[in-house]
This record gives sequence, C-alpha cells and structure tokens, in this order.
Amino acid sequence: MDKFFQVIGLERNRAKSATNSESCSQSAVLLNVSEGYKYLGITENRNSEVSKETCKRIHEQILMRVERICNGLNGKNTINAINEYALSLINYYIGAVPMEHADYMRIYDDIRKILIKQKIHLQPANTERLYLPRKELGRGLCNLVHKSEKIELQLYKTLFNGQNTSLRRSAILKTMQEENSSTAIIESYLRYRYSIEGEIDINILESAQKASLYNEIHNKTLHEKLYRLKKNELVDIEKSSPWLTNGNISAKEEGRLCYLQDRNMFGGAPGLCQHCKERPKSVDHLASQCNRMLGIDYTQVNANSDVEIRVDTTVATSTKQSANRPDILIYDKKRRLITIIEVGITSQDQLTIVENEKKRKYDVLANEMGSVHKCKTRIIPYVLTWDGIVTVFHKSYAKEIGLTTKIQSYIQFIVLKKTLESISYEYRREGVEIIPRWREKSELDRMKSLEAPDGELSVKQETIS
Ligand SMILES: [Zn+2]
Repeated sequence: MDKFFQVIGLERNRAKSATNSESCSQSAVLLNVSEGYKYLGITENRNSEVSKETCKRIHEQILMRVERICNGLNGKNTINAINEYALSLINYYIGAVPMEHADYMRIYDDIRKILIKQKIHLQPANTERLYLPRKELGRGLCNLVHKSEKIELQLYKTLFNGQNTSLRRSAILKTMQEENSSTAIIESYLRYRYSIEGEIDINILESAQKASLYNEIHNKTLHEKLYRLKKNELVDIEKSSPWLTNGNISAKEEGRLCYLQDRNMFGGAPGLCQHCKERPKSVDHLASQCNRMLGIDYTQVNANSDVEIRVDTTVATSTKQSANRPDILIYDKKRRLITIIEVGITSQDQLTIVENEKKRKYDVLANEMGSVHKCKTRIIPYVLTWDGIVTVFHKSYAKEIGLTTKIQSYIQFIVLKKTLESISYEYRREGVEIIPRWREKSELDRMKSLEAPDGELSVKQETIS
C-alpha cells in the first residue's frame, strides 16, 4: 500500500483514512466496534461484514422509486422506467452484499404488489406475462430474481476463469467458497432450479428462465389460451403485439386489456352465459361466439376527393351477386385501381378460416367491377381476433393498404377496448361488477378534459361506469 502511494506520488492523511485491520493501524485510524465503514455505498462493520441495514435500504430504495414511477407515464415507458431507474439499482450490489434468493424474491413480490395497487397489473391476470418481452405479448418488466441469477452467474464465471491469472480473483473466490455464499454455489443451484444438464452459460440460463415462464403459463387453464398461438405456425406473434410494442396508452389501460386477453374474469365457477343460456360463460364465448349478443361495430369511415371510398354499401351489378356489400371499397380513379377491404374480427380457432373466406368472398364482384370500369382490382382481408392476434399473412396485407405500425397498433387497441367495453357493459347490466372500480373519478375527469370537448365521450362513459 505504501509502495503504491510512493509510486503515484501521493501522501496519505492518516486522520482521514480508516481501517478495520489492526495491522494497518499505523497508517489509518482503527474503527471502533460500533462504527461502520462505508465503501461505495455499502456499509461494512469492523469485521468487514456488510450490515443487514444495507440490504434493507436497497429494498426500500427500489420500492420508493417504483412507486414514484407509477404515475402518468404510458404503459411502455412506465415499465422501461422501472427497469432502468428502479431495478438497475441492484446491479452493483448483487454478489457484493449477502442477499439470497429469498431477499430478491421479497423485493420482486413487493414490486408486483405496487403494480397491483396502482392497477397497472390486475391480480387475476397473468403474472408471467409481466416478465415476457413485449414482442411476445408480454410487458417487458425486468424479473429481479432472474436478473440476480444472471449477474451472480457472470460474477462467478469471471472469478472462476480468472483465478489462475489474478491473485485477487482467486482470493475472493476462495473466501466465497469457504463462506458457502450464494455466488459460490450458483452453478449447481441453477442446474437444479431449471433442470439444466451440462455446461451452463448466460444464454442457456436466459432461455431456461424464459422457458420456465412459458411452462408456468401452460399450466394455467385460462391464461394458457392466449399463448396457444405459439403452437399455431400461421400466427404472427410479433405482428400481434404492436399495441404493446408501439402503442401509446396508459399503464392502467394496458393492464386492463391484458386482463381481458388473459380471460380470467369470471372466477372458478362462472355458470352459463346469460344471453344464450346454452354455453358456459367465458371471455372467449362473450367476445366472439355468443350469437345472442349484439355485434360490435369496429369500422370507421374515411373520405378523399380524388378517390371514392364507400363503407358498407351495396354495389349495383349487372348480374345478381349474393356478395355485393363489401366493408370498404376504394375506387382510385387516377391509378385505375379498385381495392376491396374486408374487415373481420374473429376468434383464435377461426382466424385462418375467416381470413381465407374474406379473401375469396368478393372474387366475382371484383372481376365484374374490373371489367366494367376497365381497371385492376384487388381484395385485401384485414382480419384479427378480438384479442388482437393476426396471421403471418397480415403483415403484407397491412403493407398493401399502407398502414403504419402506429395505425395498426391503434386498430388493435380499439378492437381490444371495444371488446372489453361490451363484455363489461353486459355484466354491469346484470349487476355483477367484473372490473372493480372500472374507471376512477380522477381518471374519468382527466379523460374528459383530454378528448371530449363535445361531450360525446361522457355519454359513452356513463353507460360503462
Ligand atoms: Zn352465450
């Protein structure tokens, strides 16, 4: 130490230096028993033990930050802020303070409790989804337990691989092994926890962690239904997620729509559907299968001077056509192109069937119109499920229509929102409140001031709240 100071040409001030080792008392003040030594924010006592106080403080700090973030940012930014601003706090401490699996687990649970309290995540909804990537219909929240495992594994690997070249690394490793610290036994622990055989590295660990989330989902009767799409190779998961990856909706709204997709709305013994009184009531049934419920109008009208756009109008033809009322018909006179867009909202098991039907339904009409107006024709189906799922063909259809990702994510959001409104409205009429405090007063006021100068929205809200 003295040599080091000599080499760099600095002098040491004994009064301002502290040590917890008697042998150094010549050059630094020896600490009292009650005094602590703070090194890079970690308080160590006289015996170089990290005080339990530090762990408690980290825990509190993280929760405080999460609480502060849960206020007003949109869904995606809320989660990003929690990851970057609150959870990154742990990066430095993992491995340096004696925190165990149970400690990380407690912080992890407490974070979720805050999200539930703030209604960013609803308790009956799928917890594992919180920790899956947004492009896999998750919400992208960093999983603190998984994160601690990854950092500890990396720390162990660094020490282990460096023990022959660095005396310091081998000394730290030896101490950790003697103390049987969680980092020293991390490899065998992870092998056991995720049933990993053979070599273990960060990539293997990451995919094992993700697999364990999917495995949990698979074991739950209702939450599993959304993720059945993983088995359908015709479904495009990434293109089914733009409302999560590119949307701009509040964290609470996002939580509610995930809750809808997770289908766990009516508890364990839901009884029969009150409309048809034939099938058990379920989110799937109410959203798409019950024919006694009123359909939801998802379409919207657009107009332009150079182009003729007709929405849901009967087309006059010389021969009698059964299919002559397309959802959207665009006659571009300049480009001499007629586009028929057929919109469909369906359920997961009908998705590809409906998309095919929509594509073929107006074949005859398109041919006839093409020859009458002497122009090209094309038919584009725009089909998604009530929970926003699309096929692998959807991408090219959306491109043909010219929809940006932003617009697509908006369409998905509207479909989900309308579905949720129709289901919750139906149940409100029955006097059963399925979404506790569906719209709080403060939020209602905020929305009124934001988007409804004409009072149209407030009428709509009265029916659902
Ligand atoms: Zn029914």
